Amino acid sequence: MERSEALFAESLKLIPGGVNSPVRAFRAVGGTPFFAESAKGSKLYDVDGNEYVDYVCTWGPAILGHSSQPVQQALEAAISKGTSFGVPGPLELDMARLIEDWVPSVEKVRMCSSGTEATMSCIRLARGFTGKDKIIKFEGCYHGHVDSLLVKAGSGALTLGQPDSAGIPASLATETITLPFNDIESFLAAVNEFGDDLAGVILEPIPANAGLILPDPEFLQTLRQRADEIGFVLIFDEVMTGFRLGKAGAQGILGMTPDLSAFGKVIGGGLPVGAFGGKASIMDFLAPDGPVYQAGTLSGNPLAMAAGKAQLEELEATDAYVKLEEIGSQLEAGFRKRISDHPELPMKFYRVGSMFCLFFTKHEVHHLEDAKQSDLELFKRYFHHMKSAGVYVPPSQFETNFISSAHTNEDIEATLHAFDSFLGSN
Ligand code: PLP
Repeated sequence: MERSEALFAESLKLIPGGVNSPVRAFRAVGGTPFFAESAKGSKLYDVDGNEYVDYVCTWGPAILGHSSQPVQQALEAAISKGTSFGVPGPLELDMARLIEDWVPSVEKVRMCSSGTEATMSCIRLARGFTGKDKIIKFEGCYHGHVDSLLVKAGSGALTLGQPDSAGIPASLATETITLPFNDIESFLAAVNEFGDDLAGVILEPIPANAGLILPDPEFLQTLRQRADEIGFVLIFDEVMTGFRLGKAGAQGILGMTPDLSAFGKVIGGGLPVGAFGGKASIMDFLAPDGPVYQAGTLSGNPLAMAAGKAQLEELEATDAYVKLEEIGSQLEAGFRKRISDHPELPMKFYRVGSMFCLFFTKHEVHHLEDAKQSDLELFKRYFHHMKSAGVYVPPSQFETNFISSAHTNEDIEATLHAFDSFLGSN
């Protein structure tokens, strides 16, 4: 028996489902998850000695690749000073300055320890600020496992066929209105009906938890316009896209200005982190200045701040976004050529910067219902084929692939070669 199998068998006895986060269990693709031994650059190594070109990149954070030198050095320096202080530290200001410099819509920012905390806090703040309760979210968007946002959610929830979790009071779910993404009419109809009670609208501006879905610019503009007219808080969840698609994230490339934004992943350099920020007039509603309570023992943790700061500074110093775009377009060209050479197979490819998704469907994907038309059996075959060829793509059709600046030409060739052999096997 391989070591991963033995570890997973043991893990099943100790940890629910054998994993600390559901999608890691490989339920959507079957088989045993592999256990990591180490990771360096674009590669992940398992405990059985296998090497994988990694397109999961720890679900987004590893934008410079794994164990990048600047991040490791910053961590070593920070560890030598202490791992947590419980009083403010100068690194917290450095991080706040970086975020506010890079993302113009963020006038004030507060750090927390996960993306879930960030979106949860945005929702509470929107409710506290407006004095209203209802929230609009969009089908297939995942905002972490926040009670009121785990309604028709994406990511692992969708993968497991549990977009609505047990344990969430029906009374709370009724405060969450879910609508199809990119659908202006249904949004306007909902605003007409619930506008007076609406605290906020939250969305992934480029949804990446039901595969990868591109937004209709007119749809986004409509959200902004109605927020200005009615006064609800427009919240962009940029936990995935923030600092990944460019210095100002998705809002930067889309030319949008949300009222609040949630961040995570890349800003922690691989350590547990989250942040939320936006208009000072809204952020000042937070305790200790305002009535909305929010706190965290490890918020602004010096190790997370040091790793995140080093990662952001390295991204800027190495012009990494340009490199990521180059690698992304090279991969895209390779995938697209092969897809057009195989019209008999249902495949659609989408990419934004260093994020991409291959849907196994004949039709364009504009929202969750389109993504759900994908051939999940074909996806499973694709996943296992790629994995046996040493390429690790996310273990679900409803996830996005991530590229790091450490991915090389050889990695791309190996990936396209593995894809060729998958196509040849059909
Ligand atoms: N929001 C988005 C868009 C995400 O993709 C995720 C996680 O994947 C979250 C929020 C939750 O972040 P975390 O897993 O750090 O709690």
